[in-house]
Amino acid sequence: MAEHRLTHFREVQTDPATNPAATVERSPDGRWYTVSGACPTCHGRTVSRVAHGVLGPGKGLWGARPSPPPLTGVLTVYCMCGFPHPARPDSSPDTGCGAFWDVPVPDPGGAQP
Ligand SMILES: [Zn+2]
Ligand SMILES: [Zn+2]
Repeated sequence: MAEHRLTHFREVQTDPATNPAATVERSPDGRWYTVSGACPTCHGRTVSRVAHGVLGPGKGLWGARPSPPPLTGVLTVYCMCGFPHPARPDSSPDTGCGAFWDVPVPDPGGAQP
């Protein structure tokens, strides 16, 4: 595992070709995805929870909806390494270096390659 690099904060989308492997876990109810991996820019370890599906009122018009359909495509992850990157604006909600990148969601069917 590469060492963390204290780069200057910069909001930038990294080149997908350089992104390290990430792990995507679906919560049992399908409403959350947890993405963990290393930041392509600063190499810090980052874990993000991404909400998926309707998080509004659980009961009512639509009846029982146990879980949303599995997510496909990509999840956008922001660096949350927690290191004090210099030049980060106080207004920034992120706790990382400003990098963000797309992580492909694995096929939920458990299909083997
Ligand atoms: Zn960092
Ligand atoms: Zn980072």
